[in-house]
Amino acid sequence: MHDVVVIGAGPGGSTAARLLARSGLNVLIFDREAFPRIKPCGGGLTTRALTLLPKGYESQIRARPTKWQFEGRRTNGQSRVVTTLKPYSHIVERAHFDAWLVEQAQKEGAAFHPNEAALAIEESAGGYLVKTNRGRYPTRYLVGADGARGISARTLGIPRARNGAAIEAEIPVPPALYEAWRETVAISVSEYSWGYAWVIPRHPVLNLGVGSFRASRMKLRELLRAWVEAKLGWEYGQDLRPLGHPLPHRYRVQQLAKRRALLVGDAGGLMDALSAEGIYSALWSSTIAAKAILAASAHDGGLEAYDDLLQSELWPELRSAAKVALLFYPLPGLWSKLFLATPRLIEQYLCVAQGEAPYTSLLALGKAAFLKQAHLARRPY
Ligand SMILES: Cc1cc2nc3c(=O)[nH]c(=O)nc-3n(C[C@H](O)[C@H](O)[C@H](O)COP(=O)(O)OP(=O)(O)OC[C@H]3O[C@@H](n4cnc5c(N)ncnc54)[C@H](O)[C@@H]3O)c2cc1C
Repeated sequence: MHDVVVIGAGPGGSTAARLLARSGLNVLIFDREAFPRIKPCGGGLTTRALTLLPKGYESQIRARPTKWQFEGRRTNGQSRVVTTLKPYSHIVERAHFDAWLVEQAQKEGAAFHPNEAALAIEESAGGYLVKTNRGRYPTRYLVGADGARGISARTLGIPRARNGAAIEAEIPVPPALYEAWRETVAISVSEYSWGYAWVIPRHPVLNLGVGSFRASRMKLRELLRAWVEAKLGWEYGQDLRPLGHPLPHRYRVQQLAKRRALLVGDAGGLMDALSAEGIYSALWSSTIAAKAILAASAHDGGLEAYDDLLQSELWPELRSAAKVALLFYPLPGLWSKLFLATPRLIEQYLCVAQGEAPYTSLLALGKAAFLKQAHLARRPY
C-alpha cells in the first residue's frame, strides 16, 4: 500500500509528490500523458511562485520581460507601455518546466508513471483504491491534482468550479521580430468580454492567446486570429494551430478535502479569477496539502486541516481577486480609462501582478480613484 497516490503531474501534483517523498512517505504519482507533454499556458510565473520552486529553477526561465503594455477599450483608443524595474513575469515553457518538476519529485524518491490514467477511485477501509488503465493502487491518502479535465473532483463529490476558457498559439517568428518583443508582455482588454488577450515572449517563440471567464459567449478562435494579425502584422491561415483549455475558478470558498483525499490547483478550481494565474495556486495549495498530509499521517487521521490552512493562507487572496474581477469585467471601458489615468493604480496593479502585493491594496486604491472620478464628473464646472 502507498502512503500517498497523486493523480496528475502538473505543477501541483509534482510539488505535492516532491515534498511528501522528501519527508519519507512512499509516494506514487502518475499522469495520463507521456512527458514532456504539452499544456496550453502562458507560462508566466510571479515572484511569489518562484519562492515555491525547488532549487535550480532558473534553468527553466526562458524570458524575463520588464515592459508591460496595456490596451484599454478600443473606443477609448488608449494604450500604455510601462517599464518596470523588475521583470513583470518569469516565463517558462510548460512542457519542459513540468517535466523538470516531476524529475525533482523523482529525485526525492517519488515513483512516476507517465502514460497512466486514473479511471476510478474507490473508498476502502484504510483509504482508497485507485484504478487506472494499467493497474490498481491501494493508498492511505489521495491527492487529486488532475487539473480542470480530471476525474478527482467529480469522483470525490466535490462541486466543480466555474470554467472559463482560453486558447493560445506558439508562434515561431523571425529573430528580428522576437527581438522587438523580447522585453514586452502585452495585455489587451479591448474586445474580450470577461477576459483579455496577451502576447508573451518565450524565447525563441511568441505566445499569443485569448481567454475569457465567460467564454461560451465568445468565438475565441476568430478573436485569436484577429489578435495575431493586429500584433504581428501577419495574416494567419490554416497554419495557426491554437490549443484550448478551461480556466477553472471560483467566487466562493469551497471545501476541497474529504476524509483522506484532497484537491489541489486547477482540480480544486483555485485559479485567480481576474488574471487566470493558476501556477502559483497549484504550487501553494500543494505545499499546504503536503503539510496537512504529513501531520495527518503521523496519527493516521483525516485531512480537515487542509481546508483550515487554505482558508487562512490562500482563499483570502483568491476571494479578493474575484471581487476585483466582478468589479472590473462588467465595466472594462470605464476601469481601463480610470486605470490609464491613474499612475498609482497602474503601479499598484503591477505589484499585485508581480505577486508582491495583495489584491486588497488594489481594491482600496481602485475605490478611491473611482470615487474621485465620480466627484469630478458631478462638478458643474
Ligand atoms: C491558455 C492558458 C494560459 C495560462 N497562462 C498562465 C500563466 O501565464 N501563468 C499562470 O500562473 N497560469 C496560467 N494558466 C493557468 C495554469 O496553466 C494552470 O492553472 C496550471 O497548469 C494548474 O496546474 P495543475 O498542476 O493544477 O494542473 P495541470 O497543469 O492542468 O496538470 C494536471 C495534470 O493532470 C493530468 N491528468 C488529467 N486527468 C488525469 C487522469 N484521469 N489520470 C492521470 N492524469 C490526469 C493531466 O494530463 C495534467 O498533466 C493558463 C491557463 C491557460 C488555459
